[in-house]
Amino acid sequence: MPLVPMKQILDEAIRGGYGVGAYNVNNMEQIQGIMQAAAETNSPVIIQASRGALKYTKMLYLKYIMVAAAEDNPQIPISIHLDHGNNFDTCRQAIELGFTSVMIDGSLKEDSKTPTTFDENVEVTAKVAEYAHKFGVTVEGELGTLGGIEDGVGSGVSKLTDPSEAEKFVKLTGVDALALAIGTSHGAYKFKEAPVLALDIVTEVKKRLPDTPLVMHGSSSVPKELIDIINNYGGNMKHAMGVPMSSIQEAIKRGVKKINVDTDGRLAITGAIRRYFSEHPDVIDPRDYFGEARKAVYETVKSKMIDFGTAGHAQDYKPLALTDMISIYKK
Ligand SMILES: [Zn+2]
Repeated sequence: MPLVPMKQILDEAIRGGYGVGAYNVNNMEQIQGIMQAAAETNSPVIIQASRGALKYTKMLYLKYIMVAAAEDNPQIPISIHLDHGNNFDTCRQAIELGFTSVMIDGSLKEDSKTPTTFDENVEVTAKVAEYAHKFGVTVEGELGTLGGIEDGVGSGVSKLTDPSEAEKFVKLTGVDALALAIGTSHGAYKFKEAPVLALDIVTEVKKRLPDTPLVMHGSSSVPKELIDIINNYGGNMKHAMGVPMSSIQEAIKRGVKKINVDTDGRLAITGAIRRYFSEHPDVIDPRDYFGEARKAVYETVKSKMIDFGTAGHAQDYKPLALTDMISIYKK
């Protein structure tokens, strides 16, 4: 199966009434763990790389592991997506590399820290969308800013999305998917107490933009089980807290179709390796502990695919190629 444009995966998720996780990756074990979960649960999947991940892997290495994932799992629709592109050039590079989807985060300036004005955001997002669509590549934009900082991305200040601005933004830019700020936050220390998300914003935006898949960033749940493993084996993660699965499921019902998950994958890996080292102080073969890490990613992602409702939907539709999308965008 060729790599699929993310727009198709998300449009189908609107039709089917479920959410699709977008899992951040940096290495082979993460990708293999995610693909094992997708294959077993028969789920379409979005694999995404941040700029930090592309730098760490010198881009090409990560790209070819992603391509290998698609070749190894011909029955699963897979989209490869750039997370938080900071300017036009980063997005152009990802498109050249073969990504089937890019995010241009025009809510922040190129430094990924300073918030932009609405007009600045529209300008860069529209430019990326016009360019990407020529290649059939999907574009995600963001309006409003999240709290928290991850991979160097974030202003640290949260500003919730205004639904009437969201409607204007999508019309002016032509983006295929829109990330909303509804009170979630990047990283493992999102909240001091269980968060109340601004889910009314999702409902209101969905009413105005029924065909636009909405995206939730900063949506790791930071499960207590994973934190406990880390802390029980020498880690020190006090007061970590994420978004409860019940809030994510409610957001999916109201119109969120892409759920970004990075932190939970990190927690799963860190806990598995800490435990393995502690229980096997004599082991020196990296395959042993990386293998445990891969299994932990698999288990974490598998349970999300079930909870988001993605499971069982991999064969609902015939995957499109980017070339098919080019003519769809022309119309
Ligand atoms: Zn994000």
